[in-house]
Amino acid sequence: MKPTDSAGADPVQAAARVRALHELLSRYDHHYYVLDEPLVPDVEYDRRMRELQALEAAFPELRTSDSPSQRVGGAALDGFEEVRHRVPMLSLANAFSDEEVREFDQRVRKGLEQTRVRYSAEPKLDGVAIALTYEQGELVQAATRGDGQRGENVTANVKTIAAIPLRLRGAGWPPLLEVRGEIYMPLAGFEAWNAAAEEKGDKPLVNPRNGAAGSLRQLDSKITARRPLAFYAYSVASTEGLPDGQGAILEQLKQWGIPVNPEVRSVQGVQGLQDYFERLQGKRDTLPYDIDGVVFKVDALGDQALLGSVSRAPRWALAQKFPAQEEMTQLRAIDVQVGRTGAITPVARLEPVFVGGVTVTNATLHNEDEIRRKDVRIGDWVVVRRAGDVIPEVARVLKERRPPHAQPFLMPTACPVCGSAVERNADEAVARCTGGLVCAAQLAQRIQHFASRQAMDIEGLGEKLVAQLVERQLISSVADLYTLSAESLLTLERMGEKSARNLLAAIDDSKTPEFARLLFALGIREVGVVTAKQLANHFRSMEALQSADCEALEAVDDVGPVVAQHVQAFFREPHNQHVLEALAAAGLRYQAPECLDGPQPLAGQIWVLTGALSVPRSQARQALEALGAKVTGSVSGKTTVLVAGEAAGSKLTKAEKLGVEVWDEDALRALLREHGKSW
Ligand code: NAD
Repeated sequence: MKPTDSAGADPVQAAARVRALHELLSRYDHHYYVLDEPLVPDVEYDRRMRELQALEAAFPELRTSDSPSQRVGGAALDGFEEVRHRVPMLSLANAFSDEEVREFDQRVRKGLEQTRVRYSAEPKLDGVAIALTYEQGELVQAATRGDGQRGENVTANVKTIAAIPLRLRGAGWPPLLEVRGEIYMPLAGFEAWNAAAEEKGDKPLVNPRNGAAGSLRQLDSKITARRPLAFYAYSVASTEGLPDGQGAILEQLKQWGIPVNPEVRSVQGVQGLQDYFERLQGKRDTLPYDIDGVVFKVDALGDQALLGSVSRAPRWALAQKFPAQEEMTQLRAIDVQVGRTGAITPVARLEPVFVGGVTVTNATLHNEDEIRRKDVRIGDWVVVRRAGDVIPEVARVLKERRPPHAQPFLMPTACPVCGSAVERNADEAVARCTGGLVCAAQLAQRIQHFASRQAMDIEGLGEKLVAQLVERQLISSVADLYTLSAESLLTLERMGEKSARNLLAAIDDSKTPEFARLLFALGIREVGVVTAKQLANHFRSMEALQSADCEALEAVDDVGPVVAQHVQAFFREPHNQHVLEALAAAGLRYQAPECLDGPQPLAGQIWVLTGALSVPRSQARQALEALGAKVTGSVSGKTTVLVAGEAAGSKLTKAEKLGVEVWDEDALRALLREHGKSW
């Protein structure tokens, strides 16, 4: 074992520190084992334990028999009958590095005078140890580990766990068989349980381990029966009448219907141990249960007996722990981030901490409700969790360590990016910035939406181009699209003169949209194509829509209180008003909805417009739509007519290839005249 700094202390200081560590670790033990409410993450507990072990190694006279380093587990809980274990239930020696594993293998080889040892390599499930006594093949008792000598009789509770057979299968078992293993809570069950608890406003389980421990120690076994618990066996108390070897015993238990973890392997030598550790570490995030490491056991029973045990753990086994997924640190501040859709997420700014293999300085807090539920305050000590590639999160607060100056968090009322109002619907957990049209955080997505086919239908304004326009600050709101010049466009990557001209023409073309399209383009929350049409047909002008109260809005088909609230919030926001004014100043004039009651001679037909027409394309489209045609953007076998203006390109070629009818602008005009329409 490596000495820690404290091992260099003088004897008086060391004695004082040892006393302090005794008290601290006993308190941690009590909260962890008895109350099932850990005060600190395991990694902190392990650090303190190692500090104590290092001091005891440096000053052996300080090692007393009541030291937490010599003890197993915690005291039994009142309310359960006490069970004396026939054979003590020990803990395991821990290793945190490959070097410590090599040292273990060296000790074992020396003790056994062997050059290469066969081990059983097993996942270290993070649950609760249990001893199951089978008499004549029937489950008669289940006991917790307790302090290793005396545990709690939890038979009634354990009998509710479906994975544990009440009767052994097959034959050949010894008359008395004590199977030991781990009761655990599978992750899916844990998550479902907490989701339901959150919904009901109940206290969630801290983690699957504490969930399993707490479930087992319910005084009412009906409560345990509802908890999602499972079980894997990993040893027996007495090997009499059983095959020789850890692996062979587990195989035999399986035959008798006792669940054994499918990841158990037989490996050779230290290389086998290291390979297994790496393999399971790689698999850790895909397993349906939590493991906090792996366990290596000398396989041969005779060799195990030869090596024996120390007070707390056998010498023939070792647990190698994975790097911690939970660490503790201090939360310095809570900032809010604005996402591409305007969702506002609170983010914890942390004292940098190494967890899950990386240094973490920020962690998500999800939303305001989550902060209230976890009672996270600025200045708090918190447990940060980072499992796999998942974004680090603040798992819980260490309330015991709360400094007096810790401050509750207040959700800002204005967006930190654009200053617009922040709104939150009663039925939503997420708060949002209402300044979608101006907010830089949302701009790119908004512009893309504004230009999309069902909105303003500006051809050629794709994702990459929009990203460049925003990045180069050529546009800061959708209204700026209408002030773009060829010179500024030509400064962009991959932008030639022809594309710039086409883009400006497409933007110009979009200046006379139907009212419904403009409404949809504005990106008011929950106002999709259909709702925009309903609103446009009902109110017919922006002014009428803006001055509508909730009652008037809800009179429209499809509009409920939530949509009404979003519409009002949108128009209330002054930044959005400025954009509407700027759009008007840029020459944008929307078309009030046509009366669609007239004849629809083109109903069922699909038309496509391409090339340059003498009027904006949107105008031609509206005229066709008024006659019942559907106007789409691409030519296919289903297209009825392609109207080809000047310099028509690929669409014309495709139409000719497919044999689609092609008209010029004059033919279209004639058709419109025929039906009493023009542009
Ligand atoms: P341990 O968890 O390190 O190892 C022993 C236990 O591993 C056994 O009792 C058994 O239940 C389990 N195990 C899982 N798979 C196994 C397998 N295949 N073979 C054998 N055993 C297997 O030791 P412990 O004494 O149970 O607990 C000590 C640990 O508990 C500490 O290292 C710490 O991480 C944690 N702890 C945390 C706090 C806290 O406040 N956070 C307090 C006390 C203990």
